Formats: sequence, C-alpha cells, structure tokens
Amino acid sequence: MSERGAVAEAEELVAEAAGGGGSTDGPAFTLELNQDQKDIRDWVHGFAENVVRPAASEWDEREETPWPVIQEAAKIGLYGFEGLAQFWADETGLTLPIVNEELFWGDAGIGMSIFGTSLAVAAIFGQGTPEQLGEWIPQCFGTAEEPKVAAFCSSEPDAGSDVSAIRTTAKYDEAKDEWVLNGQKAWATNGGIADVHVIIASVDRKLGSRGHAAFVVPPGTAGCEQGAKVKKHGLRASHTADVHLDDCRVPGSCLLGGKEKLDERLARVREGKKSKSQAAMQTFEASRPTVGAQAVGIARAAYEYSLEYAKEREQFGRPIVENQAIAFALADMKLEIDAARLLVWRGAWMGRSGQTFENAEGSMAKLKAGEVAVWVTERAIQILGGNGYTREFPVERMSRDAKIYTIFEGTSEIQRLVISRAISGMQIR
Ligand SMILES: Cc1cc2nc3c(=O)[nH]c(=O)nc-3n(C[C@H](O)[C@H](O)[C@H](O)COP(=O)(O)OP(=O)(O)OC[C@H]3O[C@@H](n4cnc5c(N)ncnc54)[C@H](O)[C@@H]3O)c2cc1C
Repeated sequence: MSERGAVAEAEELVAEAAGGGGSTDGPAFTLELNQDQKDIRDWVHGFAENVVRPAASEWDEREETPWPVIQEAAKIGLYGFEGLAQFWADETGLTLPIVNEELFWGDAGIGMSIFGTSLAVAAIFGQGTPEQLGEWIPQCFGTAEEPKVAAFCSSEPDAGSDVSAIRTTAKYDEAKDEWVLNGQKAWATNGGIADVHVIIASVDRKLGSRGHAAFVVPPGTAGCEQGAKVKKHGLRASHTADVHLDDCRVPGSCLLGGKEKLDERLARVREGKKSKSQAAMQTFEASRPTVGAQAVGIARAAYEYSLEYAKEREQFGRPIVENQAIAFALADMKLEIDAARLLVWRGAWMGRSGQTFENAEGSMAKLKAGEVAVWVTERAIQILGGNGYTREFPVERMSRDAKIYTIFEGTSEIQRLVISRAISGMQIR
C-alpha cells in the first residue's frame, strides 16, 4: 500500500472509531462515573466529612469502638444489609470501592469499625446457602436502632500468612447434629464484641487449608469468648482481639455451605482431585480490591491535607509549595494515588463481572494501594514538618492507620508471592 493509501485508511479507521458509521451503542469503555455512582459517592463523602472526620481524633485516643458513629451510619442506611446490597448491585463493581474510599478518607479507624463487619458478611455470602444468607447476614448488622457488628476469624497466633497452619478444630457430633469448635483465634476485628462470629476451622488437619470449613457462631453461644484486646499502632477506633473457642457447640446448620457439600469436597481432596474452594483464601481474594480502596482513601486524605498545608505554610518568605522539592513530592503523591485507584477499580470490575484473575489483579490492587498509602502518609508528615509529627495534626494518625494495609488481608510479601506465582505458573517460595 502507498503511503497516501495507508494514511487514508488510518483516517477512515479514526472516523469510524469516533462514531462515523460505527455502532450506535456508544463507547464500550468509559471511566466516567454514572449519576448513581456520583450520588452515592457524594452522600458518603458528606457523612465522612461531617460525622466521621470530627470524631476521628477522639476515638483514636479512646481506642474504643465508636458505637454512636456506627449508629449514625446505620440510621442513614450506610451501615446495614440494604446499604451493602445497594452498593453490591452496581454491575460495574465500582460503587463498593468508591464508598470505601470516601468513608476511609473520613477516618480509617472509624471506617473499619463500620465496615469490619463486611469480612464476615463476605464469607457468609461467598460460602453460605441461600437460607444461611437470609438468616445470618441481617444478624451481622442488627437493626438501625440497635446495630451489631460481626467478626471474621481466620488468623491464629501460629497461623497468619500461613493459613494452612490453622489449629482450631471442628468436630462433628453426629448424635446431636452439632459441631464442636476448639481453638484460639488472633487479631480478630470485632472479635468478642461481635454478635455473629465466622470461624475458619480445620475438619481434617492432614489436608491443610483444603481441610478447612467456615462456621457461623450465633450470638451468645457458650464457649466463644473474647481473649485479650490488642493495643495497636493505628486503626485504634477499631476493636481487635483474640477469640477463644472452648468446646463451643453450634448447630449443624451453622456449617457454611452445609455438610453434604463439605463431605463431597473432602472426598475429592482425599482422592487427590482439585478442591474447588479453600474457605479462608476465597474470602480474602474476593475482598482485596475493596481493601485497597480503603488505603486509597487514607492516602488521598493525607495528600489533600498536605497540599493545602504546603500552600499556606510560609518559610523563607514564600509558601513551601513553591519549592520543587515539595511540589514534586505532591505531584508524585497524586500520581501514585491515581495509579492505585485505577488498579483498585480494575480489580473491582473484574471481580464483579466474573473475569478470571489470571495475573492476580485483585492482589495487585491491594498491594499497590497499601504501599502507596504508607508512602504518601509518610510524605505528608514530612511536608508538615514538626506539625506532621504531632497528634495535633491528622497526618500522624493517617500514617499510623495506613501501615496496616501492608499487613492484614495478606501482607505485601504474600501479595507478591500470589502475583509472581500467577504470572510465572511456578511454585515461587
Ligand atoms: C489490626 C488488625 C486487624 C486484623 N483483622 C483480622 C481479622 O478480622 N480476621 C483475621 O482472621 N485476621 C485479622 N488480622 C490478622 C492479619 O490478617 C495477619 O496479621 C496477617 O495475615 C499476617 O499474619 P502474621 O501477623 O501472623 O504475620 P506472619 O505471617 O508471621 O508474617 C511476618 C512477616 O513474614 C513475612 N512472610 C511470611 N511468610 C512469608 C513468605 N512465604 N514469603 C515471604 N515473606 C513471608 C510476612 O510478609 C511478614 O512480613 C488482623 C491483624 C491486624 C493487625
């Protein structure tokens, strides 16, 4: 083809792509939020700005669950089954990360005390039968007048990253159709103060994580007690504690998914066939982009605060932002936050639309967002100088809060392990 012919063909293709004679369905790809998404974002932002932010420092210092704020969130429908169902209904998958980013922009400790319940809900949603969903998910939240929280308990003192090392056992008492749970859970968000606890336990230790199952422990069940409450570096408004299970008996119907399905799965594993699900890992993978969105919210809060500060604060007779050292730091902070958000949105969209995570894109989103939050909040402290290091200014708290995002829901190292295994197909250690 002549050079002129190639140019003409390219021009035709561009014209077609721009709509000249193409399909009437409109563009297949857009990053523009629809009106519902914008409305929900603005609504949550208003709550974060007017209710959460003003309360953040107080509850961080008190290191207590902010029940009055949870109650406010429940009253407006932000905390509760209907709210979550509405966020989840968005087929693009973006509403859930948008809501999380806005709420955690307000404050991460309070954000986690409001949304910590969703980990247990995700486990019930992912593994429960329709009857179990109907029975337990509403109980995780309680009512608008009397909200409750739920806890998801997988980690143990000797089983953090290595989920297969879980020692908590679940033994079936056939005569009574009850499961008996024994063991100790560690670092459980809402552990002991929750109405509903979801417990990951081993029904066959020999099978490692493939011998795990998830159980609901109903409110007030004997033998399920809070252990030590953990004193933390950040996220201090969110309750974290050990949970002790001491001959804790739950009805047979509390095994998520039911016994028949569990027996089939265990039989497949024992025959050496692949098991379809690993109870805890399944829950973690599904929630990673949403967790990343929380980290993006913290990072954005610290970036916005330090940008305004840099424009106001004068040294050497001019605002500090007029120094490239500060302005370039802020430019990089914004760049990294936007990059992290795009990964989060991609992961959330993939999860919601049933795409296969071929390259562990959910883990990528959480890894990037967590590391960006740590880096950005540390930069923010630097930009505020001495003020940044004090509790009089919020970036110090944001920095403490951000750090957990490279640790829980799979540490950064574990995310890299997951990604490197996915891209290489090799058993990287
Ligand atoms: C505030 C908070 C809330 C939490 N909430 C919950 C909850 O609600 N439910 C729950 O079940 N758990 C919860 N956790 C526990 C959390 O998920 C674990 O702390 C986390 O999975 C890491 O486990 P670990 O602390 O035992 O660290 P370890 O597994 O002991 O890891 C220690 C270090 O070794 C590295 N490492 C470990 N193995 C490897 C490897 N193979 N390759 C390279 N590096 C490796 C890790 O990346 C990390 O840097 C919470 C923890 C905290 C602090």
